[in-house]
Amino acid sequence: MSATPRFLGLALHWQILIALFLGGLFGYFAHESVEYVAWMGKLFLRGLKMVIVPLILSSIISGITNLGTGDNLGRLGTKTILYYLSTSVLAIFTGLLFVNVIRPGVGAELGFEQSVGEVDATQVGFSETLLRIVPENVFKAFGTGDMLSIIFFAIIFGFFITKVKDNKQQDALINFFNGAFDVMMKITMFIILFTPFGVFGIVAEVVAEQAGNNDALLAVGGRLGKYMITVLLALFVHAFVILPLYIRIVAKANPWRHLQAMRSALLMAFSTSSSSATLPMSMHSVENGSGVSNKISSFTLPLGATINMDGTALYECVAAMFIAQAYGINLGVGDQLLVVATALLASIGAAGIPMAGLVMITVILTAVGLPLEGVGLILAVDRILDMCRTTVNVWSDSCGAVIIAKTEGETLKV
Ligand code: ASP
Repeated sequence: MSATPRFLGLALHWQILIALFLGGLFGYFAHESVEYVAWMGKLFLRGLKMVIVPLILSSIISGITNLGTGDNLGRLGTKTILYYLSTSVLAIFTGLLFVNVIRPGVGAELGFEQSVGEVDATQVGFSETLLRIVPENVFKAFGTGDMLSIIFFAIIFGFFITKVKDNKQQDALINFFNGAFDVMMKITMFIILFTPFGVFGIVAEVVAEQAGNNDALLAVGGRLGKYMITVLLALFVHAFVILPLYIRIVAKANPWRHLQAMRSALLMAFSTSSSSATLPMSMHSVENGSGVSNKISSFTLPLGATINMDGTALYECVAAMFIAQAYGINLGVGDQLLVVATALLASIGAAGIPMAGLVMITVILTAVGLPLEGVGLILAVDRILDMCRTTVNVWSDSCGAVIIAKTEGETLKV
């Protein structure tokens, strides 16, 4: 399987970049005719969603059966969770630092009616979230795409395949899931070939929506500009300083080579604003580009796409602090630590879909006692921030795969 499918001799990331640019132009200048191209984006996203559940299932089961003993699974699980938690916490503190230094919300005239209506504060308690990892009905979990339950079931299923006594039955199961994974990767590769068209459609639609929304454009120039810059600067430092250092120091790997291998996946994360939709491409890039084994990537990436969201965690923290500043509420150290803790939980709980992080801010606002209407303050610029934080989310997952693969003694291409 080639690392990047080519079209007219161009590598995939160039194709995506061109599509991003052309989609932007189309959306801006021809926003009335956007419906003629938006279907391409929709069709592409449907294709990706179609493969996600069977891809994760076959990939995790075949990965786990290759792990061998339960000890390996325990070690890998602990490392992965530790990596995810530590980078998310680092990301939040980076955001906290920037928002305290730049103070984008201080003196901001609210100038908006404090009635955004009901913000959907759908909050499920933390223990309830943990309970829900175990599905009552696994087929329902497949049907609704409930990622954590699917991952949980796949791990259990793969693990108990290794406990089957009859060798013939065990081999048959292992071969079946290895084969199924192979087929799913081939289907994924086929869908990935259409990425430029999908990206063109998605970006044209997003830009057309924003072009009709003068509020967003004005907001960027006005008081929200400083808030955006704070989020973007902090994301930049996390993605280009902290995570590369992590890769260098812990994994002794080359972060820039890894970045190159991930180009297409990151551009896709940027265009789709969805870690879940990018998952098939991330798995492809991490395995074929960076050389991480399926054993590691099949475990770390689906889990990462669901619970490891550094970009979202950072954004949650900056946004909540910005809202507090804008309302003139001074948060002390204790309250800021509460923001840190709840931002972590909110990022773990956010789904890998567009705008999921925006809804989760209500969790922090409620915990700290800030007005829920504050979410209305940041709505206008959320879409562009969503694109950027999703890119960082996917980047961090992929760095995790590299770090864990290296510490497991794998020889990589980066
Ligand atoms: N869109 C993000 C993602 O899929 C989640 C968020 O809204 O922060 O990773």
